[in-house]
Amino acid sequence: MKYFKLLLFVTFISFSQNKTVIKCGKLADVKSGKMLENQTIIISENKIEKIVSGNYETKSSDVIYDLSNYTVMPGLIDMHVHVEHQTSAKQYLEEFTLNDADVAFRSVGYVKTTLRSGFTSVRDLGGTGVNISLRNAIDAGLIEGPRIFTAGKSIATTGGHADPTNGYRKDLMGNPGPEDGVANGVDECVKAVRQRYKDGSDCIKITASGGVLSVAKSGENSQFTIEEIQAIVQTAKDYGFKVAAHCHGEEAMKRAVLGGVHSIEHGTYMSDEVMKLMKERGTYLVPTIAAGKAVGAFAKKPNYYPDVVVPKALAIGPKIQSTFARAYKSGVKIAFGTDAGVYEHGENWKEFIYMNEVGMPFMEILKTATVNAADLLGQSDKLGALESGKFADIIAVDGNPEKDITVMGKVVFVMKDGKVYKTN
Ligand SMILES: [Zn+2]
Repeated sequence: MKYFKLLLFVTFISFSQNKTVIKCGKLADVKSGKMLENQTIIISENKIEKIVSGNYETKSSDVIYDLSNYTVMPGLIDMHVHVEHQTSAKQYLEEFTLNDADVAFRSVGYVKTTLRSGFTSVRDLGGTGVNISLRNAIDAGLIEGPRIFTAGKSIATTGGHADPTNGYRKDLMGNPGPEDGVANGVDECVKAVRQRYKDGSDCIKITASGGVLSVAKSGENSQFTIEEIQAIVQTAKDYGFKVAAHCHGEEAMKRAVLGGVHSIEHGTYMSDEVMKLMKERGTYLVPTIAAGKAVGAFAKKPNYYPDVVVPKALAIGPKIQSTFARAYKSGVKIAFGTDAGVYEHGENWKEFIYMNEVGMPFMEILKTATVNAADLLGQSDKLGALESGKFADIIAVDGNPEKDITVMGKVVFVMKDGKVYKTN
């Protein structure tokens, strides 16, 4: 007990020095939904100590950032990105030409851009496993990037949306199994989840329906049975993983929601019945409108995608925004996510425009990218709001996004974990 008191005292002494002070012009309070004026954030080490309203006397030892001309808000969270990849006309060929090290070096640029555009946390929903190493390198301070919560390799069924040898020549296809993220039947599904734990993943991603960019005919067919999904969700629970389900098709979505997944990604052909089920069960929708817009546009460029992808991109891409609008109006829980990588990293903020276009006010969108995202990550005690005790993940934009949502693309200040990565 004595030792504990001494430790507290020493901690107090060290924390009482070298505070970082941020003077805010406007401060977006995501919990109350109000834009506050004349606020000062006091940061000790990597956490928010307190927020003071009105005048605050700084000390000579304080490190001061004057953001009184800007709008300050919590660091943004994108719940659906792919840190390993970025779209290009060469992306399908590159599966055969790039080594893991090539992928890793390119990703260093993607995560830096993401952080500097105001996204201090991302959930990576599928790659080769380089995403796990990238997370570790960022956590160790070796490279600059957002906090990454990664699924590692997505789990698919044979021929399904994340089968890594989909569309290959037969002698190259092989027979990937649970270790490679391909699972058929309950036993293999259990093993595939356990393999993700062994790999060092933070969450589970399944491809419950066909997808747009895989070299396969359907973008919406059901690719897991409900028993398989239940086995994945149940096993994931043992390891503290939440499960995200990529879904465009209606039947696949129904199975995923009934099977107990925590979020539906994309949700393109969502029916009123599925919306009702999601509200009953508290399942989140992660819309990814930005990806829908991007694939719809790229599909019109000659030879950008393989022929089998083009009709899927043209049908599904443009539909995502209207589905989001229906889900939002019906009261489905929304967490912000964009599928960055399917379009250029750093453009994640455009999702704010797309959500706003169909009637969601700025403060509500911000809530999906902070409070709701932190909830879906299971990190509400550490992330998603500017409050005493939370990590000092703080950004500022030049202008008032309640009046002009495009200022979300003008990020002038980025702090992650108490460290400043961008300042005016
Ligand atoms: Zn994705």
